[in-house]
Amino acid sequence: TPQKSLNFIEQIIEEDLKNNYSKEQLQFRFPPEPNGYLHIGHASSISLNFGLGLKYNAPVNLRFDDTNPTKEESEFVEAIKSDVEWLGFKWAKECYASDYFQQLYDWAVEMIKNGDAYVDSQSSEAIAEQKGTPTQKGTNSPYRDRSVEENLKLFEAMKNGETPEGKDVLRAKISMGAKNMLMRDPVMYRCLHQSHHRTGSDWKIYPMYDWAHGQSDYIEQVSHSFCTLEFLPHRELYNWFAKKVKEADKLKPKQREFARRNLSHTVVSKRKLLKLMEKGILESWDDPRMPTISGMRRRGYTPESIVNFAESIGIGKRENTVNFSHLEFCVREDLNKKAPRVMGVLDPLKVVITNYPEDKIEMLDAENNPEDQSAGSHKVPFSREIYIEKEDFREEANRKFFRLKLGKEVRLKNAYIIKAESCVKDDDGNITEVHCTYDENSRSGSGTEASKRKVKGTLHWVSIQHAVTAKINIYDRLFMVENPTQDKEVDFLEHINPNSHQIITGYLEPYLANAKVQERYQFQRIGYFCVDKTSTSEQLVFNKTVGLRDSWKG
Ligand code: ATP
Ligand code: MG
Ligand code: MG
Repeated sequence: TPQKSLNFIEQIIEEDLKNNYSKEQLQFRFPPEPNGYLHIGHASSISLNFGLGLKYNAPVNLRFDDTNPTKEESEFVEAIKSDVEWLGFKWAKECYASDYFQQLYDWAVEMIKNGDAYVDSQSSEAIAEQKGTPTQKGTNSPYRDRSVEENLKLFEAMKNGETPEGKDVLRAKISMGAKNMLMRDPVMYRCLHQSHHRTGSDWKIYPMYDWAHGQSDYIEQVSHSFCTLEFLPHRELYNWFAKKVKEADKLKPKQREFARRNLSHTVVSKRKLLKLMEKGILESWDDPRMPTISGMRRRGYTPESIVNFAESIGIGKRENTVNFSHLEFCVREDLNKKAPRVMGVLDPLKVVITNYPEDKIEMLDAENNPEDQSAGSHKVPFSREIYIEKEDFREEANRKFFRLKLGKEVRLKNAYIIKAESCVKDDDGNITEVHCTYDENSRSGSGTEASKRKVKGTLHWVSIQHAVTAKINIYDRLFMVENPTQDKEVDFLEHINPNSHQIITGYLEPYLANAKVQERYQFQRIGYFCVDKTSTSEQLVFNKTVGLRDSWKG
């Protein structure tokens, strides 16, 4: 039955549609704080919220939770917008919690008037001490019973910047004996004399997350506010605040929680990613080793592969870590359908085809993608001297070595069958050249008997005189262990893989000379590669996206 395939979030919505809401009332939001770039964990939340929007034909807002000016910047706002767009999602409205500062302030004033909030003049240390413990009640602040008039006056002074930072805070008056620690008179506002990326120096007080978030949901009339599990204990406070501001005819948003998704061999936390840059381990948010959306884009991952990944791991109630190889599987699966096939040699060995005319050049046909007939073909030049990969030749090898060995034949992809006759060595015994002969009737696609002749191995190659050189970035896992933050005693930076980046020179077929930034290719028998943003026509730069699991089939 279709009911069975619903995840628990969809079940909540279906229940609500039966009992509480009309379809038209459904509305969601994705609420990032603009204090860093989005990472692969956020992709789960994005595909959940925007996916629900598509499924129920309901609006989804992009809401910036920008209530902490010390860490937030417009650069992050712009990066988040372009990442969500790149993933293929469209938001209904672009919203900012900071747009609600005045409304939030007005409501806070109402709460003071109703005896639901008070200004506390104690230090944050004293307030923390009075919080109590989960098994022991807290202590009331000596300022808890200030008069409404005094509270209003002090709150206004806070707002006007007359109160120094760290002096007064506004607290909700709930109960210092509440079982839920978060209900013990939580702070709603603190003084911060800092410039905000949108409101500048207008505000000298900033609302705390719990106060701002739920009310932003309410102002936008979000029906379901989905957040990660650490906010479960906040739900009671979310509902308490909602009751204080709710008008009779308006919808009360519902907070529900789902589990964070983690990825192995990396860290999905903006704070930790920031640390990698502060320590000089990585240079930027879009380093291709970063688990950020922008890093993955630069690495060559497609938006579809990231969304497929998020959907395939699904939504759950228990936190888990997904292996990096599953993400790579999704990337490969998508690129296999889309990436044109080309040839590039990364560790070259010269091959001379001794019976091929010296100044002859042939332009051979190379199919762009066997998975996609509409992708067409391109030309690849062939000549007497070519490169193959060093590891594709051995003087002698057992019967399972289907590549080139002395006295045996292989097919050159899209070209001829060659046979290794002899090799040249330097003084140290290293092979520097292989001399081969070719079967001139064996050209692929020529229709001759010899062209259909089956030989076991097929190699990629590149004509030396036509090859374009490129700088190739080869990447490996950023951390050497699956879960770098598991052991709390050890700094996660201790687990950094010192060999996560290697730069080599590649020799590529000339078709790639005009490759454009962000284009993705399959280098046959090696893997998928993407043109880096630093690439120019003078100096091509490719990033290795992911290796091929297998060499090509057939
Ligand atoms: P970080 O810890 O990396 O700073 P955050 O939760 O503080 O992440 P926000 O900008 O507040 O980052 O996140 C926006 C939304 O994305 C929130 O609803 C948050 O719960 C969700 N989210 C963040 N990380 C993950 C994750 N690893 N898995 C699923 N959802 C996540
Ligand atoms: Mg957050
Ligand atoms: Mg955070």
